[in-house]
Amino acid sequence: MKIYFDKDIRRLTTLGANVRAQRLIILESYDEVQDVVNLLNLKPDETWMILGFGSNVLFIKDYEGTIVHIQCESHIEILERTHDIVSKDAETQTLASLEISEVEAYAPTSLQVQISANTSWAYFVAYCMRNDLVGLENLASIPGSVGGAVIQNIGAYGREQNENFVNVKATHLKTGETKIFEKNECDFGYRASIFKNDSSWLIISATYELQKNNALYNPLVTYESLSRYLHEYDIINPNAHDVYNAIVAIRASKLPAPELLGNAGSFFKNPYITPEQANFIRAIDEQAPLRLQDDKWRIPASWLIEQAGWKGKRVGVVGMHDQQALVLVNYGGATGRALFEHALRVQKDVQDKFHILIEPEVTIII
Ligand SMILES: Cc1cc2nc3c(=O)[nH]c(=O)nc-3n(C[C@H](O)[C@H](O)[C@H](O)COP(=O)(O)OP(=O)(O)OC[C@H]3O[C@@H](n4cnc5c(N)ncnc54)[C@H](O)[C@@H]3O)c2cc1C
Repeated sequence: MKIYFDKDIRRLTTLGANVRAQRLIILESYDEVQDVVNLLNLKPDETWMILGFGSNVLFIKDYEGTIVHIQCESHIEILERTHDIVSKDAETQTLASLEISEVEAYAPTSLQVQISANTSWAYFVAYCMRNDLVGLENLASIPGSVGGAVIQNIGAYGREQNENFVNVKATHLKTGETKIFEKNECDFGYRASIFKNDSSWLIISATYELQKNNALYNPLVTYESLSRYLHEYDIINPNAHDVYNAIVAIRASKLPAPELLGNAGSFFKNPYITPEQANFIRAIDEQAPLRLQDDKWRIPASWLIEQAGWKGKRVGVVGMHDQQALVLVNYGGATGRALFEHALRVQKDVQDKFHILIEPEVTIII
């Protein structure tokens, strides 16, 4: 464990806002978690927070308190192998009575994989693909740690991490209690989990259930830009590897790399709107990309921001990206406040024009 005071933390977030932390604890091993609990309990009134890879946070100003930043060892462990026969004959045949080839054809083998929270999510998905374990291919190339992915319940191209999630191990940084949370206890929603409301739990590791790739596995390709890409490249019956490669390519072509241009991915969430708001949008543009999801209307926040004229517009060293209207960009040297104020300007303008409140997806630290 390392401890710093009055530390520049610009490089610990992908937005790269120019901010400092009063105290920064770098956790280098999960064995040190209890030491952190003891340290935090020495000053019970002090503000503190956990920071993963910093790809989804915006600090508005210097942080007056302690940041616990995780830089522990990463590990990935395959836990168990389960056989699940999904053949129409399964009711009448036992596993033993099937030929090996039939077992492989009819029985996707699923594996549980446990990964430490500090592992890069993108690395984990790439590892799964290399080992022919499928299910997470739509979530390829998303920056951040496995811990952050659980907290945010990350999603992309029609899938969310909770679909393959089994459980998570976490330690409460006030009480020191370590607990396994099963999926049904995590209350996952759109970029939400119980850990977002109770940020005292430090995620240690997570377990996912993945399928062994086989001919019966059908990857999800319904997301528009993905199906367009596959069509363009004449990929007719894509397998999980095709989908993974397509998504890596699409993301690289349209999202700015944080190492080159500070950003935190989509800054705002796609709002759910009322039928009245949907009618209002339709009256402005009958081609607007409205869609009905779970009986609720939704509209992409990127469309609203673009229509409001903010796409590619730069104000000093901040702006919304020219290819992705949802992405708030630090063109270099921006303060947290400048980034925040720009986000507020965009949010207010969208509300004034469309009477729709777009809410941040990024965690804003005030
Ligand atoms: C270019 C780019 C593209 C992106 N694309 C997507 C996308 O397609 N879909 C998507 O959903 N997101 C996307 N994101 C957002 C981001 O990658 C995810 O939210 C990511 O999971 C955040 O992980 P992190 O480790 O960086 O978390 P941080 O930003 O460090 O933290 C986020 C929150 O999680 C908490 N946290 C982090 N680690 C732990 C832990 N171990 N224990 C307890 N709490 C923890 C923090 O306290 C904070 O509240 C993108 C970001 C970028 C920069």
